[in-house]
Parts: sequence; structure tokens; C-alpha cells
Amino acid sequence: MATSPHHGPDVRDLLAQPSPSPEARPLSVTDLFSIGIGPSSSHTVGPMKAAESFARELVGAGRAVARVEVELYGSLGATGRGHGTDKAVTWGLAGYHPRTCPAGVIATLVEDVAASGQLRVGGRIAVPFDITRDIHFLPRTVLPQHVNALRIVARDGGGGVVLERVYFSVGGGFVTRLEGDGAAARQVPLPAVDDGPAAVARVPHPFSCGVELLARCADAGLGVGDLVRANEEAMRPRVELDDRLDAIWRAMDECIAAGLEGDGELPGGLRVPRRAGRLHHDLRHRDADVALGARPDPLAVLDWVNLFALAVNEENAAGHRVVTAPTNGAAGVIPAVLKYYLTFVPGAGPAGVRRFLLAATAVGAIIKTNASIAGAEVGCQGEVGSASAMAAAGLAEVMGGTAAQVENAAEIAMEHNLGLTCDPIGGLVQIPCIERNAVAAVKSINAARIAMWGDGTHTVSLDAVVETMRQTGRDMMSKYKETSQGGLAVNVVEC
Ligand code: SF4
Repeated sequence: MATSPHHGPDVRDLLAQPSPSPEARPLSVTDLFSIGIGPSSSHTVGPMKAAESFARELVGAGRAVARVEVELYGSLGATGRGHGTDKAVTWGLAGYHPRTCPAGVIATLVEDVAASGQLRVGGRIAVPFDITRDIHFLPRTVLPQHVNALRIVARDGGGGVVLERVYFSVGGGFVTRLEGDGAAARQVPLPAVDDGPAAVARVPHPFSCGVELLARCADAGLGVGDLVRANEEAMRPRVELDDRLDAIWRAMDECIAAGLEGDGELPGGLRVPRRAGRLHHDLRHRDADVALGARPDPLAVLDWVNLFALAVNEENAAGHRVVTAPTNGAAGVIPAVLKYYLTFVPGAGPAGVRRFLLAATAVGAIIKTNASIAGAEVGCQGEVGSASAMAAAGLAEVMGGTAAQVENAAEIAMEHNLGLTCDPIGGLVQIPCIERNAVAAVKSINAARIAMWGDGTHTVSLDAVVETMRQTGRDMMSKYKETSQGGLAVNVVEC
């Protein structure tokens, strides 16, 4: 394939390529934005989906089961306690999926299991279960396929294996399952319950990288948001797509509202105070003072953006419902920028929210396809960096940006998140994660505004910066990739 002077494949080559096969459907808006449970998409949502899938398969097998055991490897073993991986696996084994699990189950199921000593797998198969005896944290065991791995085994009364599965939580709530043995072993995506499009489809404007996205936009005469919409509408009817987009924003907005009501401390033992409620109170009083004639603070809008992000990430850290965007640790960036758009940008409205999410989807899909959105694979640059790039693209789109300006906005945001490590103190998604989302949200707005000053012409392409992020993540020592063995995690004394 020919190479263009701006670091990517030649546009003519790309346009000559056929659409991917129907089986290889592009990443959809519902892949990048799924309603789940905090605090971590890879360490909470993914393992819960894996366990729920295991439970469904076990119930389907219809065989007698005496015991179920779980082993959490690598990063899941290292920081799983702080991320609630053991609880998530228990909820999943009980048959609950993160998208639909009732709040009451989240609040009480683990305690109920501890009290009774029994778990109903898939809601049907009663087995003795002790979360401290039957879930094993094995941080020193790292499977060759992926650092976030878990094995679930069901045994009969004689100790024989009834069902054994190995899963990988590969970031953003995506899960694969190991199929086959030895050299023939391969990872296959977990069959979706209902997160993704109902059916795979051939899309009119396939793209897998930034230069291809721009080429498809130019070829079709569409902006990024409209191009992604056309692809999405090949996978589901327009009405259903808009319902999904609206539901995503509604869940984000409800999460912000819940976070603004929060007070007290976050769980986990770090004694991190929830700040959003207090900050909200102060900002409303300051606005009231301005209305009465006090001198306005020209940077007050930054405080509001910070507030929106803190609210979401405190909800996530509390283990409440959030929208994975594209991960739970980075769940505050996009809602904060969307809320900024709706609150402070003239002419904002629901149609703009949909366009924002569609443009952000394009960038998230490019990053996940060519690098990673998992902190355990590439550090925080893949989580908060990706969310920041997606948010910048979405904001540039609704500010009237051309495809080139949208791509430029994403590139600027990602470029200035390169190298971010993942070093959560105590394995909890609290420090530095919560403030990091607030800082990244402001950075996204800045990136979009810088991009809108220009005409989209720039030196570093989105593809080049995504590849740089991948390489930087590959070279990053594992102690900086969601293991809590480096950085802030070892330099701050836990009280
Ligand atoms: S430091 Fe970043 S990647 Fe790591 S848990 Fe926190 S938000 Fe996620």
C-alpha cells in the first residue's frame, strides 16, 4: 500500500478497499458507550459480564454442580479488591448483567451470600459459596494472552470439571473468551447480551483509521457525525439509534445529578471525601452573588466543567451506575464536556448531543482498533486520553467543525495526554482518577477550540498520535499499567 506524506496510507488505496465482511461490523456507539456499574470497566464491568456469561452457559448445560471457583490473574489479581472485581464476579455468577442489574442487588447481594453461605448461579443452581474462599486473587500469574484474565470452574460432587472457561477483560467492558487448546487457542468475543447492534451489517462508509475517516467523509460529502450516523443506521433503524443516543445522554445526565447530591466519603478505605456536592453549593451561591452585582469570575465556566466531571467520577468510585465512556475510570470526561456544551454553548440542544456522541464514537473506534482504551494495556493515556480525544472531537463537531477540524481536535487532545500512567492509589479508581477526568475535560474543550481556530491543516495526524500512544504504552513498564505497583500508588502513604 502506498504511503501519504502525512504518515498514513494513501487515500486512493483506502477507498479502493472493499467494505469489511458483514461479520466484522465496525465498533458502534453502543460499544463505546454502555450503561454499567462503577468503578472500573475492565475490572468491574468486564468480569461481571464474563461471570454472567458463565452462569448462563452453566445453567444451559443442565448438569449437577457442587462448587464454583474463580481465579483472578494479573492486573485483576493485583487491583481487583479495590475495583470490586470479587463483588462483580459474584453479581455476574448470580445471573446479573451490568447494564440491567438492579441497584438493590448491588447493595445487598454480596452480604446476602455471605450470610447464607450460598449462591444461586444464574438464579437457578444453588452452590455453597464464600467470596473469600472461592475467589482467588493471583496477581503474579499473568496469562500470555492478556494481563486481565479470569478463570471460572464449576465442579461436580466428585471434583470433576463440569464447565471451565478462561475470559479476558480487554478494556472498556469488552470481554473475550479463550477457545481451543495449545497452538490452536484463540480469543473470541463474548456473545453480546444486548449491548451491541441487534445484527451485524455491512456499513456504507467503513473506516479503520483517521486518514480513512477523512477520505470517506470527503468522498461522501459528509461530516464525521453524519458519516457515523449513516453507518449506525445500517445496523439499526434511525428511531432506535436516536433512542439509544438519548438514553446514553440521559444516563450521563442522571449520573451528574446524582453526583451533585453526593456527600461523605468514598468507599475503599482511602477516606477520600466527595467534593461535588459542596462545590455545587458554592458555585450556585457565587452565581447568585453575580446576579446581585458581584464581579463575575471570567474562568467560572472551568469550575462548572470540573464539577460535572467530579460528580460522575465520584459516582463511579462509589460503585453506582455510570456510562462507560469509553471506560469507567474515564467516565467523567465526555459527560462533563457534553454538559458544558448544553449549558454554555449558544444554540446547543438534543440534536447536537446526538451529533457529539456520533463524532466521539468515530474517534473511540479508531483508537480501540489501532491502539487500546485499556489502562492495563497502555496506561491512563488509553483511558482518560481516549476519552479526552473523543470529547474534543464531539465538541468540535457541534461547534460546526469540518471533518478535518474534528480529526484535529481529537489529535490535539490525545497528543497532550501521551504518556499518562495508570497508578491508582490502593487500586481504587479515586486518586488520581477523579481529578484527572476534570483536568482532561477542560483539556478537551481547549483542544476543540484550538482546532476551530484553524482550517484542519496540521502536522501530526490523529493516526500518528494514536500509533505513538500504542508504542508508548507498549514501552511503559507494567508497574504503571493498572497494577498499583508504581507512581502515586507507591509514593503516597495510605492511612
Ligand atoms: S489512573 Fe487512569 S487508567 Fe488508571 S484506573 Fe485511574 S482513570 Fe483508569
